Amino acid sequence: MYDILCVDDTQANLLVLESLFEVHGDRYNIFTASSGHEALGILLNQSIDLILLDVMMPQLDGFETAQLIKENKKTKNIPIIFLTAKRDNETIQNAFNYGVDYLSKPYDEFELFTRVDVHLKLVESQKQLNEQIIFNQSVLDSQHSIIFIQDNNGLVTTNKSFFNFFNVESIAEFNEKHNCVSDLFMEYENYFSLHVLNNNIQWCDELSSSYDDIEYNILIMDTKIFEPKAFRINVSGIDNTDKFIVSLTDITQLTTRSKQFETKATYDALTNIFNRSKFNELISEHYNLYKRYKKPLSFAIFDIDFFKKVNDTYGHVIGDETLITFTKTIDEATRDTDIFARWGGEEFVLLMPETKIDEAKIAVEHLRVLIDKTHFKEVNKITCSIGVTQFKNNDTIDDILIRSDEALYEAKSSGRNKVCVK
Ligand code: GH3
Ligand code: MG
Ligand code: MG
Repeated sequence: MYDILCVDDTQANLLVLESLFEVHGDRYNIFTASSGHEALGILLNQSIDLILLDVMMPQLDGFETAQLIKENKKTKNIPIIFLTAKRDNETIQNAFNYGVDYLSKPYDEFELFTRVDVHLKLVESQKQLNEQIIFNQSVLDSQHSIIFIQDNNGLVTTNKSFFNFFNVESIAEFNEKHNCVSDLFMEYENYFSLHVLNNNIQWCDELSSSYDDIEYNILIMDTKIFEPKAFRINVSGIDNTDKFIVSLTDITQLTTRSKQFETKATYDALTNIFNRSKFNELISEHYNLYKRYKKPLSFAIFDIDFFKKVNDTYGHVIGDETLITFTKTIDEATRDTDIFARWGGEEFVLLMPETKIDEAKIAVEHLRVLIDKTHFKEVNKITCSIGVTQFKNNDTIDDILIRSDEALYEAKSSGRNKVCVK
Protein backbone atom coordinates (compact mmCIF):
# COMPACT_ATOMS: atom_id res chain seq x y z
CA MET A 1 0.00 0.00 0.00
CA TYR A 2 1.44 3.36 -1.07
CA ASP A 3 0.53 6.70 0.48
CA ILE A 4 0.01 9.32 -2.22
CA LEU A 5 -0.54 13.01 -1.62
CA CYS A 6 -2.53 14.90 -4.28
CA VAL A 7 -2.26 18.69 -4.15
CA ASP A 8 -4.56 20.93 -6.22
CA ASP A 9 -6.41 24.18 -5.47
CA THR A 10 -9.31 23.06 -7.66
CA GLN A 11 -11.53 20.77 -5.65
CA ALA A 12 -12.92 19.12 -8.80
CA ASN A 13 -9.43 18.04 -9.88
CA LEU A 14 -8.88 16.41 -6.50
CA LEU A 15 -12.15 14.55 -6.79
CA VAL A 16 -11.16 13.22 -10.22
CA LEU A 17 -7.81 12.01 -8.89
CA GLU A 18 -9.46 10.41 -5.85
CA SER A 19 -11.97 8.55 -7.99
CA LEU A 20 -9.22 7.32 -10.34
CA PHE A 21 -7.20 5.92 -7.47
CA GLU A 22 -10.25 4.53 -5.73
CA VAL A 23 -10.50 1.82 -8.39
CA HIS A 24 -7.12 0.53 -7.16
CA GLY A 25 -8.04 1.06 -3.52
CA ASP A 26 -6.05 -1.94 -2.32
CA ARG A 27 -2.82 -0.47 -3.72
CA TYR A 28 -2.99 3.27 -3.06
CA ASN A 29 -4.04 5.29 -0.07
CA ILE A 30 -4.88 8.88 -1.05
CA PHE A 31 -4.36 12.09 0.92
CA THR A 32 -5.51 15.41 -0.53
CA ALA A 33 -4.52 19.02 0.04
CA SER A 34 -5.98 22.09 -1.61
CA SER A 35 -2.95 24.37 -1.11
CA GLY A 36 0.82 24.23 -0.76
CA HIS A 37 0.55 25.11 2.93
CA GLU A 38 -1.93 22.34 3.62
CA ALA A 39 0.34 19.88 1.77
CA LEU A 40 3.35 20.86 3.91
CA GLY A 41 1.23 20.34 7.04
CA ILE A 42 0.26 16.81 5.94
CA LEU A 43 3.88 15.96 5.06
CA LEU A 44 4.99 16.87 8.57
CA ASN A 45 2.63 14.34 10.17
CA GLN A 46 2.30 11.67 7.54
CA SER A 47 4.80 9.44 5.77
CA ILE A 48 4.10 9.92 2.05
CA ASP A 49 5.55 7.85 -0.81
CA LEU A 50 4.78 10.15 -3.75
CA ILE A 51 3.30 13.61 -4.40
CA LEU A 52 1.15 14.70 -7.33
CA LEU A 53 1.51 18.48 -7.31
CA ASP A 54 -0.45 21.08 -9.25
CA VAL A 55 1.77 23.92 -10.51
CA MET A 56 -0.61 26.84 -10.67
CA MET A 57 -1.97 27.59 -7.22
CA PRO A 58 -2.56 30.91 -5.38
CA GLN A 59 -0.09 31.93 -2.58
CA LEU A 60 2.45 29.07 -2.76
CA ASP A 61 2.57 27.73 -6.29
CA GLY A 62 3.67 24.17 -7.06
CA PHE A 63 7.37 24.99 -7.60
CA GLU A 64 7.59 27.05 -4.40
CA THR A 65 5.90 24.24 -2.48
CA ALA A 66 8.36 21.74 -4.02
CA GLN A 67 11.28 23.99 -3.02
CA LEU A 68 10.15 23.87 0.64
CA ILE A 69 9.67 20.09 0.46
CA LYS A 70 13.28 19.72 -0.83
CA GLU A 71 14.64 21.89 1.95
CA ASN A 72 13.23 19.61 4.64
CA LYS A 73 15.46 16.65 5.51
CA LYS A 74 12.43 14.46 6.25
CA THR A 75 10.65 15.10 2.95
CA LYS A 76 13.41 15.89 0.47
CA ASN A 77 13.51 12.41 -1.08
CA ILE A 78 9.79 12.06 -1.77
CA PRO A 79 9.30 12.01 -5.57
CA ILE A 80 7.11 14.79 -6.94
CA ILE A 81 5.19 14.54 -10.22
CA PHE A 82 3.89 17.92 -11.36
CA LEU A 83 0.45 18.20 -12.92
CA THR A 84 0.28 21.21 -15.19
CA ALA A 85 -1.66 22.57 -18.13
CA LYS A 86 1.41 24.57 -19.18
CA ARG A 87 3.77 23.08 -21.76
CA ASP A 88 6.40 25.80 -22.17
CA ASN A 89 10.09 24.93 -21.85
CA GLU A 90 10.56 26.80 -18.58
CA THR A 91 7.75 24.86 -16.92
CA ILE A 92 9.13 21.55 -18.15
CA GLN A 93 12.62 22.46 -16.97
CA ASN A 94 11.32 23.51 -13.54
CA ALA A 95 9.31 20.32 -13.32
CA PHE A 96 12.50 18.30 -13.62
CA ASN A 97 14.48 20.66 -11.37
CA TYR A 98 12.09 20.36 -8.44
CA GLY A 99 10.55 17.01 -9.14
CA VAL A 100 11.14 13.77 -10.96
CA ASP A 101 8.49 14.03 -13.66
CA TYR A 102 5.47 15.97 -14.99
CA LEU A 103 2.14 15.21 -16.58
CA SER A 104 0.29 17.72 -18.69
CA LYS A 105 -3.36 18.28 -18.06
CA PRO A 106 -5.64 16.85 -19.18
CA TYR A 107 -3.76 13.64 -18.44
CA ASP A 108 -4.39 10.19 -19.68
CA GLU A 109 -5.33 7.74 -16.94
CA PHE A 110 -3.05 4.98 -18.20
CA GLU A 111 -0.10 7.36 -18.45
CA LEU A 112 -0.76 8.65 -14.92
CA PHE A 113 -0.64 5.16 -13.39
CA THR A 114 2.35 4.12 -15.47
CA ARG A 115 4.37 7.13 -14.33
CA VAL A 116 3.26 6.83 -10.71
CA ASP A 117 4.25 3.15 -10.66
CA VAL A 118 7.65 3.75 -12.28
CA HIS A 119 8.54 6.29 -9.60
CA LEU A 120 7.21 4.13 -6.79
CA LYS A 121 9.38 1.29 -8.06
CA LEU A 122 12.39 3.59 -8.09
CA VAL A 123 11.60 4.64 -4.53
CA GLU A 124 11.34 0.99 -3.58
CA SER A 125 14.72 0.08 -5.04
CA GLN A 126 16.32 3.17 -3.53
CA LYS A 127 14.90 2.06 -0.17
CA GLN A 128 16.37 -1.43 -0.63
CA LEU A 129 19.69 0.07 -1.62
CA ASN A 130 19.69 2.27 1.46
CA GLU A 131 18.82 -0.70 3.63
CA GLN A 132 21.69 -2.63 2.06
CA ILE A 133 24.06 0.28 2.70
CA ILE A 134 22.89 0.51 6.31
CA PHE A 135 23.26 -3.25 6.68
CA ASN A 136 26.78 -3.21 5.19
CA GLN A 137 27.78 -0.39 7.48
CA SER A 138 26.40 -2.17 10.52
CA VAL A 139 28.38 -5.29 9.56
CA LEU A 140 31.54 -3.16 9.46
CA ASP A 141 30.60 -1.42 12.70
CA SER A 142 30.02 -4.71 14.50
CA GLN A 143 33.67 -5.64 13.91
CA HIS A 144 36.10 -5.10 16.74
CA SER A 145 38.94 -4.61 14.27
CA ILE A 146 39.55 -1.22 12.69
CA ILE A 147 38.30 -1.49 9.11
CA PHE A 148 38.53 1.04 6.31
CA ILE A 149 38.26 1.19 2.55
CA GLN A 150 40.92 3.18 0.77
CA ASP A 151 41.69 4.25 -2.79
CA ASN A 152 44.28 6.53 -4.38
CA ASN A 153 42.44 9.60 -3.15
CA GLY A 154 42.26 8.41 0.45
CA LEU A 155 39.59 7.04 2.75
CA VAL A 156 36.27 5.95 1.26
CA THR A 157 34.53 4.21 4.17
CA THR A 158 35.47 3.41 7.74
CA ASN A 159 33.85 1.65 10.67
CA LYS A 160 33.09 2.72 14.25
CA SER A 161 36.30 1.20 15.63
CA PHE A 162 38.23 3.43 13.24
CA PHE A 163 36.58 6.57 14.58
CA ASN A 164 37.03 5.41 18.17
CA PHE A 165 40.71 4.62 17.81
CA PHE A 166 41.67 7.72 15.85
CA ASN A 167 39.44 9.85 18.03
CA VAL A 168 37.57 11.55 15.17
CA GLU A 169 33.91 11.76 14.25
CA SER A 170 34.12 11.76 10.47
CA ILE A 171 36.42 10.95 7.57
CA ALA A 172 36.62 14.69 6.87
CA GLU A 173 37.91 15.33 10.39
CA PHE A 174 40.52 12.59 9.97
CA ASN A 175 41.61 14.08 6.63
CA GLU A 176 42.06 17.48 8.25
CA LYS A 177 44.57 15.98 10.66
CA HIS A 178 46.35 13.41 8.47
CA ASN A 179 47.30 12.79 4.86
CA CYS A 180 46.88 9.05 5.02
CA VAL A 181 46.51 6.36 7.68
CA SER A 182 49.91 4.99 6.64
CA ASP A 183 51.61 8.21 7.81
CA LEU A 184 50.80 7.05 11.33
CA PHE A 185 52.65 3.72 11.03
CA MET A 186 55.60 4.06 13.41
CA GLU A 187 59.10 3.10 12.36
CA TYR A 188 60.22 0.20 14.52
CA GLU A 189 62.13 -3.02 13.95
CA ASN A 190 60.03 -5.88 12.54
CA TYR A 191 57.04 -3.57 12.02
CA PHE A 192 55.92 -2.35 8.62
CA SER A 193 56.10 1.38 7.93
CA LEU A 194 56.42 3.55 4.82
CA HIS A 195 60.22 3.83 5.06
CA VAL A 196 60.63 0.16 4.06
CA LEU A 197 58.84 0.77 0.74
CA ASN A 198 60.77 1.06 -2.49
CA ASN A 199 60.17 4.13 -4.64
CA ASN A 200 56.76 4.51 -6.19
CA ILE A 201 55.21 1.47 -4.59
CA GLN A 202 51.95 2.25 -2.84
CA TRP A 203 51.64 0.70 0.61
CA CYS A 204 48.28 -0.92 -0.25
CA ASP A 205 49.79 -2.55 -3.35
CA GLU A 206 52.74 -3.80 -1.35
CA LEU A 207 50.70 -5.20 1.54
CA SER A 208 47.99 -6.74 -0.64
CA SER A 209 50.37 -8.69 -2.88
CA SER A 210 49.66 -12.12 -1.57
CA TYR A 211 52.20 -14.13 -3.56
CA ASP A 212 54.19 -14.50 -0.39
CA ASP A 213 52.31 -15.31 2.77
CA ILE A 214 54.14 -12.74 4.85
CA GLU A 215 52.15 -11.34 7.72
CA TYR A 216 52.64 -7.68 8.44
CA ASN A 217 52.34 -5.92 11.76
CA ILE A 218 52.25 -2.19 12.32
CA LEU A 219 52.56 0.13 15.30
CA ILE A 220 50.32 3.17 15.73
CA MET A 221 50.40 5.57 18.66
CA ASP A 222 47.19 5.43 20.66
CA THR A 223 46.85 9.13 21.38
CA LYS A 224 44.33 8.49 24.15
CA ILE A 225 46.92 6.73 26.31
CA PHE A 226 50.14 7.78 24.56
CA GLU A 227 51.26 4.23 24.07
CA PRO A 228 51.89 2.49 20.77
CA LYS A 229 49.43 -0.24 19.81
CA ALA A 230 50.49 -3.19 17.67
CA PHE A 231 48.16 -4.32 14.88
CA ARG A 232 48.16 -7.20 12.43
CA ILE A 233 47.40 -5.46 9.13
CA ASN A 234 45.48 -7.13 6.31
CA VAL A 235 45.02 -5.43 2.93
CA SER A 236 42.96 -6.87 0.06
CA GLY A 237 42.14 -5.34 -3.29
CA ILE A 238 38.41 -5.17 -4.01
CA ASP A 239 37.65 -6.89 -7.34
CA ASN A 240 37.07 -4.66 -10.38
CA THR A 241 37.84 -1.47 -8.47
CA ASP A 242 40.94 0.51 -7.49
CA LYS A 243 39.88 0.18 -3.86
CA PHE A 244 41.42 -1.75 -1.00
CA ILE A 245 39.85 -2.98 2.20
CA VAL A 246 42.18 -2.73 5.17
CA SER A 247 41.69 -4.30 8.56
CA LEU A 248 43.77 -3.68 11.67
CA THR A 249 43.51 -6.24 14.44
CA ASP A 250 44.90 -5.23 17.79
CA ILE A 251 47.66 -7.68 18.80
CA THR A 252 49.23 -5.51 21.50
CA GLN A 253 48.34 -7.93 24.29
CA LEU A 254 49.53 -10.92 22.29
CA THR A 255 52.92 -9.36 21.62
CA THR A 256 53.37 -8.30 25.24
CA ARG A 257 52.42 -11.79 26.36
CA SER A 258 54.82 -13.45 23.97
CA LYS A 259 57.55 -11.07 25.17
CA GLN A 260 56.76 -12.13 28.73
CA PHE A 261 57.02 -15.79 27.68
CA GLU A 262 60.30 -15.07 25.98
CA THR A 263 61.64 -13.37 29.09
CA LYS A 264 60.50 -16.28 31.23
CA ALA A 265 62.11 -18.74 28.86
CA THR A 266 65.39 -16.84 28.80
CA TYR A 267 66.11 -15.27 32.18
CA ASP A 268 66.25 -16.54 35.70
CA ALA A 269 63.50 -14.88 37.72
CA LEU A 270 65.58 -14.20 40.83
CA THR A 271 68.92 -13.08 39.44
CA ASN A 272 67.86 -11.86 36.01
CA ILE A 273 70.77 -13.55 34.26
CA PHE A 274 70.37 -16.33 31.65
CA ASN A 275 68.66 -19.44 32.95
CA ARG A 276 69.76 -22.99 32.38
CA SER A 277 67.66 -23.62 29.30
CA LYS A 278 68.91 -20.47 27.56
CA PHE A 279 72.45 -21.39 28.53
CA ASN A 280 72.04 -24.83 26.96
CA GLU A 281 70.97 -23.14 23.75
CA LEU A 282 73.94 -20.76 23.80
CA ILE A 283 76.49 -23.42 24.68
CA SER A 284 75.41 -25.55 21.70
CA GLU A 285 75.84 -22.58 19.36
CA HIS A 286 79.38 -22.03 20.65
CA TYR A 287 80.04 -25.74 20.64
CA ASN A 288 79.23 -25.84 16.92
CA LEU A 289 81.67 -22.98 16.28
CA TYR A 290 84.29 -24.80 18.34
CA LYS A 291 83.77 -28.00 16.31
CA ARG A 292 83.97 -26.20 12.99
CA TYR A 293 86.74 -23.65 13.61
CA LYS A 294 88.50 -25.21 16.62
CA LYS A 295 88.33 -21.90 18.43
CA PRO A 296 89.34 -22.15 22.08
CA LEU A 297 86.36 -22.42 24.41
CA SER A 298 86.47 -22.73 28.18
CA PHE A 299 83.81 -23.50 30.73
CA ALA A 300 83.55 -23.01 34.50
CA ILE A 301 81.06 -24.05 37.14
CA PHE A 302 80.71 -22.08 40.40
CA ASP A 303 79.18 -23.37 43.62
CA ILE A 304 78.76 -21.16 46.66
CA ASP A 305 80.33 -22.66 49.75
CA PHE A 306 78.13 -23.62 52.70
CA PHE A 307 75.21 -21.75 51.29
CA LYS A 308 72.75 -23.83 53.24
CA LYS A 309 74.20 -22.24 56.35
CA VAL A 310 73.43 -18.75 54.98
CA ASN A 311 69.78 -19.69 54.65
CA ASP A 312 69.70 -21.44 58.02
CA THR A 313 71.34 -18.50 59.81
CA TYR A 314 69.82 -15.45 58.07
CA GLY A 315 66.70 -16.84 56.41
CA HIS A 316 65.68 -17.32 52.80
CA VAL A 317 65.15 -13.64 52.02
CA ILE A 318 68.73 -12.76 52.90
CA GLY A 319 69.78 -15.94 51.07
CA ASP A 320 68.06 -14.63 47.96
CA GLU A 321 69.68 -11.21 48.30
CA THR A 322 73.06 -12.88 48.66
CA LEU A 323 72.48 -14.78 45.42
CA ILE A 324 71.54 -11.53 43.67
CA THR A 325 74.65 -9.70 44.90
CA PHE A 326 76.81 -12.69 43.99
CA THR A 327 75.39 -12.70 40.46
CA LYS A 328 75.80 -8.93 39.95
CA THR A 329 79.37 -8.99 41.19
CA ILE A 330 80.40 -11.75 38.78
CA ASP A 331 78.33 -10.46 35.88
CA GLU A 332 79.95 -7.02 36.07
CA ALA A 333 83.44 -8.48 36.26
CA THR A 334 83.19 -10.79 33.25
CA ARG A 335 83.77 -9.83 29.62
CA ASP A 336 80.80 -8.97 27.44
CA THR A 337 81.53 -11.99 25.28
CA ASP A 338 81.41 -14.37 28.25
CA ILE A 339 78.10 -16.03 29.00
CA PHE A 340 77.15 -16.23 32.64
CA ALA A 341 74.05 -18.18 33.71
CA ARG A 342 72.33 -19.67 36.72
CA TRP A 343 72.62 -23.42 36.55
CA GLY A 344 70.30 -23.98 39.48
CA GLY A 345 70.21 -23.22 43.24
CA GLU A 346 73.55 -21.74 44.25
CA GLU A 347 75.37 -23.06 41.20
CA PHE A 348 76.37 -20.90 38.25
CA VAL A 349 78.13 -21.50 34.95
CA LEU A 350 80.41 -19.34 32.83
CA LEU A 351 81.20 -20.00 29.18
CA MET A 352 84.29 -18.22 27.92
CA PRO A 353 84.59 -18.08 24.11
CA GLU A 354 88.02 -17.42 22.57
CA THR A 355 89.61 -18.36 25.88
CA LYS A 356 92.27 -21.00 26.48
CA ILE A 357 92.43 -22.82 29.78
CA ASP A 358 95.34 -20.76 31.17
CA GLU A 359 93.51 -17.50 30.58
CA ALA A 360 90.27 -19.03 31.85
CA LYS A 361 91.95 -20.10 35.06
CA ILE A 362 93.30 -16.60 35.64
CA ALA A 363 89.91 -15.10 34.91
CA VAL A 364 87.95 -17.32 37.29
CA GLU A 365 90.64 -17.05 39.98
CA HIS A 366 90.15 -13.30 39.74
CA LEU A 367 86.39 -13.83 40.21
CA ARG A 368 86.95 -16.12 43.21
CA VAL A 369 89.10 -13.46 44.91
CA LEU A 370 86.54 -10.80 44.05
CA ILE A 371 83.75 -12.76 45.80
CA ASP A 372 86.03 -13.45 48.74
CA LYS A 373 86.54 -9.70 49.16
CA THR A 374 82.97 -8.60 48.53
CA HIS A 375 80.84 -7.49 51.44
CA PHE A 376 77.42 -9.17 51.48
CA LYS A 377 74.65 -7.51 53.40
CA GLU A 378 74.11 -9.15 56.87
CA VAL A 379 75.99 -12.26 55.79
CA ASN A 380 79.18 -10.21 55.39
CA LYS A 381 81.29 -12.80 53.62
CA ILE A 382 80.79 -15.79 51.38
CA THR A 383 83.17 -17.82 49.25
CA CYS A 384 82.75 -20.03 46.23
CA SER A 385 84.48 -23.02 44.67
CA ILE A 386 85.06 -23.23 40.94
CA GLY A 387 85.80 -26.05 38.52
CA VAL A 388 87.13 -25.01 35.13
CA THR A 389 87.99 -26.82 31.93
CA GLN A 390 88.53 -26.31 28.20
CA PHE A 391 86.88 -28.08 25.26
CA LYS A 392 89.35 -30.55 23.81
CA ASN A 393 89.41 -32.82 20.76
CA ASN A 394 86.19 -34.78 20.47
CA ASP A 395 84.63 -33.56 23.68
CA THR A 396 80.86 -33.46 23.76
CA ILE A 397 79.03 -30.90 25.87
CA ASP A 398 78.30 -33.65 28.39
CA ASP A 399 82.01 -34.47 28.63
CA ILE A 400 82.70 -30.86 29.57
CA LEU A 401 79.94 -30.80 32.18
CA ILE A 402 81.23 -33.98 33.78
CA ARG A 403 84.85 -32.80 33.75
CA SER A 404 84.10 -29.39 35.23
CA ASP A 405 81.96 -31.06 37.90
CA GLU A 406 84.89 -33.29 38.81
CA ALA A 407 87.10 -30.20 39.06
CA LEU A 408 84.50 -28.53 41.29
CA TYR A 409 84.30 -31.60 43.50
CA GLU A 410 88.06 -31.46 43.85
CA ALA A 411 87.90 -27.78 44.84
CA LYS A 412 85.24 -28.58 47.46
CA SER A 413 86.98 -31.58 48.88
CA SER A 414 90.34 -29.86 49.09
CA GLY A 415 89.07 -27.06 51.33
CA ARG A 416 86.64 -24.87 49.25
CA ASN A 417 87.18 -21.21 48.14
CA LYS A 418 89.37 -22.63 45.38
CA VAL A 419 89.68 -22.94 41.62
CA CYS A 420 90.51 -26.41 40.26
CA VAL A 421 91.31 -27.19 36.63
CA LYS A 422 90.66 -30.44 34.84
P1 GH3 B 1 78.66 -26.75 49.66
O1 GH3 B 1 79.75 -25.86 50.12
O2 GH3 B 1 79.04 -28.18 49.76
O3 GH3 B 1 78.18 -26.38 48.30
O4 GH3 B 1 77.48 -26.55 50.69
P2 GH3 B 1 76.09 -25.85 50.42
O5 GH3 B 1 75.38 -25.66 51.68
O6 GH3 B 1 76.29 -24.65 49.59
O7 GH3 B 1 75.40 -26.93 49.50
P3 GH3 B 1 74.00 -27.61 49.51
O8 GH3 B 1 73.82 -28.16 48.12
O9 GH3 B 1 73.89 -28.55 50.65
O10 GH3 B 1 72.97 -26.45 49.75
C1 GH3 B 1 72.64 -25.53 48.80
C2 GH3 B 1 71.63 -24.62 49.40
O11 GH3 B 1 71.27 -23.57 48.50
C3 GH3 B 1 70.36 -25.35 49.77
C4 GH3 B 1 69.26 -24.49 49.20
O12 GH3 B 1 68.27 -24.22 50.13
C5 GH3 B 1 69.96 -23.21 48.83
N1 GH3 B 1 69.33 -22.57 47.70
C6 GH3 B 1 69.19 -23.07 46.45
N2 GH3 B 1 68.51 -22.17 45.69
C7 GH3 B 1 68.19 -21.12 46.48
C8 GH3 B 1 67.50 -19.91 46.28
O13 GH3 B 1 67.01 -19.59 45.19
N3 GH3 B 1 67.36 -19.06 47.31
C9 GH3 B 1 67.88 -19.34 48.53
N4 GH3 B 1 67.72 -18.47 49.52
N5 GH3 B 1 68.52 -20.50 48.75
C10 GH3 B 1 68.70 -21.37 47.75
MG1 MG C 1 75.37 -27.00 45.30
MG1 MG D 1 77.11 -24.90 47.63
